[in-house]
Amino acid sequence: MNNKDAYESILEMYEGKPFTVSKVADSLLEVLRFQFTPEEADLAVKVGLKGGKLDEIQERTGIEKNKLKKMLNTMADKGTMWIRPGKEDPTYRTIGVAGPGLLETGGWGNIRFPYSVQLMKALYEFQLDFATKILAKIPFPVAQVWTTPAALPADAEPNQNVAERIKEAGYWGVSTCSCRLPHWIADPGNHCNHLLETCLFLGDTARWGVEHGMCREITYQNAIEILRKCNEEGLVHTYDPNEFICNCCPDCCVLQVGNREPGANVLQPSEFVAQIDESTCDACGNCADRCPFGAIEVDTYACVDTDKCLGCGVCFSTCSTDSIKFMRRPKIEDPRTVAVA
Ligand code: SF4
Ligand code: SF4
Repeated sequence: MNNKDAYESILEMYEGKPFTVSKVADSLLEVLRFQFTPEEADLAVKVGLKGGKLDEIQERTGIEKNKLKKMLNTMADKGTMWIRPGKEDPTYRTIGVAGPGLLETGGWGNIRFPYSVQLMKALYEFQLDFATKILAKIPFPVAQVWTTPAALPADAEPNQNVAERIKEAGYWGVSTCSCRLPHWIADPGNHCNHLLETCLFLGDTARWGVEHGMCREITYQNAIEILRKCNEEGLVHTYDPNEFICNCCPDCCVLQVGNREPGANVLQPSEFVAQIDESTCDACGNCADRCPFGAIEVDTYACVDTDKCLGCGVCFSTCSTDSIKFMRRPKIEDPRTVAVA
């Protein structure tokens, strides 16, 4: 198998699972060439997206067991191989394109390899391509926005509170934002100045990330403090069911870049919506300046367009008159959120 065949075979493996990656083949190929050696690309296809145990993969590939194990671990360090953590005889599988996949893993853990800077530049181009040509065209949302915990109304249920989801995970990590870091590196001087270490990993995804150098272990309290700081910075919490939480800005985030495209529907609103108390609002405009989705207009008082409001709570901490409250959003019919695995 020549090198070109190995990378094109990975593209074939990803096609339609679930994304039409042929639409972004050129930019994805650039990332693949940094993320896999030709030998690793060949192995990634043989392991496949369903994966298997070491013995099964050994039988499929004919690679000597110790060498195989070492290769799979090296690939996990690069973020291209999922290894279920803490198991004596773990399952291995090649990671997908997103959620978590190649769209994220190259940006996690900061600059770790001699090729990291070049990888970040390639990743930035791939992320732009993916956001505008794939995410923006999917007819239903792929990621859920979560109201920041401090803004939740008193009757919010525990399963509507992202802090509770974080607590249930039992193990936590944090990493450099996989969108912000590539943007900073690829487009110096023309990017946001938000916090960089904002990608929260939960549960087994955190264990995998810590074991393979993609994130660092933190406590539950650390995770909640990061969430609070992110809200203060104007970053939107989006929770992925595959156990990570993005804290997104409109400048760098793949989800928000895709969501801005005409007709796009990338983000599922949270279950709450902002409401202004016009009797106390002094029309300072802080909330409107901060809203990442242009949902607030201010005249004699601030007014929320509930169709545009995604219920993130970024406006909440900016109001000195305590005029912003959150109420339950009227039930959304058929809220199909897909897990981008
Ligand atoms: S008004 Fe804007 S900032 Fe406030 S919750 Fe809605 S989308 Fe978020
Ligand atoms: S931040 Fe508060 S006081 Fe200022 S415009 Fe918004 S709701 Fe009104």
